[in-house]
Amino acid sequence: MQDRELYQKILGLEEPWGVDDVELLLESGEIRVRISHPSETKFCCPECQRELACYDHGQERLWRHLDSCQFKTYLVAAPPRVQCPEHGVKTARVPWAEPGSRFTILFERFAIDLLQATQTVKGAKEILRTNWDQTWNVVQRAVARGLDRKQVKDVPRLGIDEKAFRKGQDYVTLLVNLDTSTVEAIADGNSTESANACFSQLSTEQLNSVQAIAMDMSAAFVKAAKESIPLAEEKIVHDRFHVMQMANQAVDQIRRAENKELLATGDDSLKGTRYLWLTGQENLTTKQSERFEAVYRASLKTGKAWGFKELLRDLWNHDSISQAKAFFDDWFRRVIRTNLAPLKKVARTIKERLSNVINYCLLEITNAVAEGLNSKIMSIKRRVGGFRNRENFKTAILFYCGGLDLHPR
Ligand SMILES: [Zn+2]
Repeated sequence: MQDRELYQKILGLEEPWGVDDVELLLESGEIRVRISHPSETKFCCPECQRELACYDHGQERLWRHLDSCQFKTYLVAAPPRVQCPEHGVKTARVPWAEPGSRFTILFERFAIDLLQATQTVKGAKEILRTNWDQTWNVVQRAVARGLDRKQVKDVPRLGIDEKAFRKGQDYVTLLVNLDTSTVEAIADGNSTESANACFSQLSTEQLNSVQAIAMDMSAAFVKAAKESIPLAEEKIVHDRFHVMQMANQAVDQIRRAENKELLATGDDSLKGTRYLWLTGQENLTTKQSERFEAVYRASLKTGKAWGFKELLRDLWNHDSISQAKAFFDDWFRRVIRTNLAPLKKVARTIKERLSNVINYCLLEITNAVAEGLNSKIMSIKRRVGGFRNRENFKTAILFYCGGLDLHPR
């Protein structure tokens, strides 16, 4: 079999395109497959699909294709142009590549699969033997393609959450479909405007379809939800994990203050116990459990605060709003009589937004899905590496977590 014939077959080239010539460049480790079409071939105007005679050809171009036996393989062709009576002289679309791409469709599909599998641009580009810009371009084009094809679907259960792009600063806000665990919208910052910018990426029908939305207790997100989602007040569920996190932080604050006081009197019974108070009992080793029991029995403020925090967990174990409310009222009365200022502050914060906390009994959503997604995003950030700016970070989130149809066809 001639190499021309071989390449014609393995490239899967369709009529009217055929292989003219196969060139092996040993030094650069490349194979160049030159292809052309018979002169009488007709092509379509890319604007109106009108079939027209070939007018002339553009400059010869290279498209990177899948390697053949480790040789970087390129298709080489002069793209045909047509003269449309309506649209003028236009470059016709070639069947092996998307307009504007320097890769064939097969190469791009492979690159996308590889980027998804390795979850790193760096890893993928080494296997593909492309540079960072070329590889990143595949990601960008895939996301643009996916967004273009994205169908507008109802989003009955949403979560909204912030994510730090750089440590502790520079946030992005994510809107997550909790049923599909996909990122539906991203905006810069973590303000009311950021949240509204996310909501504005949904259609009116989608906003109307929202039945429940999970969020932390930040006033910014509450305000935005009320501005963008009809009857939001009934649909907001403050995420239980965020609420418990606040309670945990209060316990930690109390422990730190008390430890300081005790150390001043030479008592180090709270020293090095942070982990014991913040970790679920079920996750402590036997030795840690024993230590915990001993400190807990010492009747310290920290122990008392910890007890109230543990009790608060039951808030989410009620079947009805009225039961949950009765439980909280009782918890609140008891906490408010203590001298545990940080915990009292948490109690007041919860009380203020109580209906949206215990809405959980009816709507049963949490941002836990979004949190899982967030850890995925964080690991992508670590592994993809080299994000030059926030726009790239957002693009990567959509590439890996957008649930988009990314492949060219
Ligand atoms: Zn036309």
